[in-house]
Amino acid sequence: MAYRVKSTTNKKSKPRKFLVFSAHPDDLDFGCAGTIATLTAKGNEVAYCIITNGEKGTHKVSQTCEEMIAMREREQRAAGAIVGVSDIHFLRETDGDLEHTAELRRRLIRVMREVKPDVVLSADPGNHLFDSFGRFHRDHRITAEAVFDAIYPATASHAFFPELKQEDLLPHQMQGVWFFGTDRPNMFVDISKTIGKKLAALRAHESQIPDVKKMEERIRTRAKNEGKKKKMRYAETFRRLMF
Ligand SMILES: [Zn+2]
Repeated sequence: MAYRVKSTTNKKSKPRKFLVFSAHPDDLDFGCAGTIATLTAKGNEVAYCIITNGEKGTHKVSQTCEEMIAMREREQRAAGAIVGVSDIHFLRETDGDLEHTAELRRRLIRVMREVKPDVVLSADPGNHLFDSFGRFHRDHRITAEAVFDAIYPATASHAFFPELKQEDLLPHQMQGVWFFGTDRPNMFVDISKTIGKKLAALRAHESQIPDVKKMEERIRTRAKNEGKKKKMRYAETFRRLMF
């Protein structure tokens, strides 16, 4: 389906809240920054949760791990500012060593219960082709599954992590999830007006983009190919799964 992002700028409709999960700084910008820019332009609220530091992303030998972490957070904040996002939760897990544990789920649920999103955006746990090294990075796979498991059944249930209630982090029922980077899209968002912002957000991850021109060509080609299927100039695709 072609999804039309609703405007909340008229007084009658309430802004909707979206929470986007990302294994590393930059994953969410590759996956859905055009959609995020479209959502914020229409008055919706968007928050990010970045799970690992991304400190093992290619870096100069002279740079310390701490410098790398600080730089990647700065880059993600700059990228967020371009698409209208300032509420960014950094969980600071170690890049490449992420494990799917109850503790990780507790940390994800904590953010979901704090932000109380109507819709979560995250990588698709349904992809299993292993046809690309980067796409199937271990942290991406673990993030996709852990976010799915945290959403259901735990975030909306009193029975999971009851200690969180003492911190006023009460169960929260969201409407559903939009999975980005999916092999089985059922939702197309027109990003013709926001592809420039997506490219600018990606350029903000300076340490990760060795060849800006090549990256921009790749992103435009992919968005154009997706758009063609629904007569849009540029599109991002999702697998939409609602409760
Ligand atoms: Zn990544």
